[in-house]
Amino acid sequence: MDYELAIIGAGPAGYSAAIYAARAGIHTALFDQSGGGGLASIAPNIENYAGFSSIKGMDLMEKMKEHASKYADMHFYEQVESIEKQQEQFTLYSSEEKSYAVKAVLLATGTEHRRLTCGGAKEYEGRGISYCATCDGFFFKGKSVAVVGGGNSALIEAIYLKQIGCKEVYLIHRRDTLRAEEAYEADAKKAGVTFLLNTVIQEIKGTENLESLILTDTKTQETSTLQIKGLFVSIGVIPQNDLAKKLGVTIDEQGYIQVDTQMRTNVKGIYAAGDITGGLRQIITAAAEGAQASLSSTEVLGKQYPY
Ligand code: NAP
Repeated sequence: MDYELAIIGAGPAGYSAAIYAARAGIHTALFDQSGGGGLASIAPNIENYAGFSSIKGMDLMEKMKEHASKYADMHFYEQVESIEKQQEQFTLYSSEEKSYAVKAVLLATGTEHRRLTCGGAKEYEGRGISYCATCDGFFFKGKSVAVVGGGNSALIEAIYLKQIGCKEVYLIHRRDTLRAEEAYEADAKKAGVTFLLNTVIQEIKGTENLESLILTDTKTQETSTLQIKGLFVSIGVIPQNDLAKKLGVTIDEQGYIQVDTQMRTNVKGIYAAGDITGGLRQIITAAAEGAQASLSSTEVLGKQYPY
């Protein structure tokens, strides 16, 4: 047996799981197709993770990475491409053309950004359209930009873009009420973000780079043109459930993995934690789920944990 537990996905759930598992004496590997951190690492600012009144997503995830690296074997830039189930174990096949025999698997594969589909959305990706204000906001300092979406992420991005000195920051949302928490709405208003509610993007236009958006007011059907240099897309996320589906793990109608209170899936030996299980989708809940899932795996490892 190469490992007792393989954790797939190094976000808050994966890191926390690795710490708890390895400290419980479980021989653990943590795999991530990139350098780890997941979506949390591109959050401009995190203000609701206990103990940190304000911290950049990248900094918090680096701290978690450093902490988890003390305990588990890290396999960064190694994607688990498929998992085969045998009688009492699983075989993982990775992008490094390696295979690993493991007794339990924890899927902490998280979510990815949902992409815009209107005209110009593909064409101007990387030429004015971005999915990460922390990564690309700097290029738009002094310029007018828009953020599309009405959730927490969109509001946080808009506040950040204003903070780093974008000239005008428009928040485009398809309804008349936001999905985001009121605290973020208040902060965005205070920061000077301009809200364009009941508004959808019809088309994205430009030449070499993005230059304008054609907007439609969903109430009046009137169209207008908004001149901007950058568009930050923050319209929600898509669960990364490919491995789960192939293993026969039950997922709900929105694509999230169904788990019980011990983070077990319907497939014995397969656990799930973090955003991939839906629900609150917070860093703190992901971390808690990761801890629970890794300790639950002791049941198939012939080990005990004291609760
Ligand atoms: P979200 O909460 O699902 O919000 C997505 C937003 O995009 C919604 O306002 C939605 O509009 C809009 N939208 C969806 N599809 C669209 C489309 N095709 N065109 C235009 N608009 C579209 O996503 P999120 O903000 O990325 O957050 C994901 C999860 O992470 C949530 O659970 C959130 O609470 C959590 N999160 C928490 C924090 C925090 O607590 N600090 C920070 C970031 C994220 P409708 O409202 O009309 O559906």
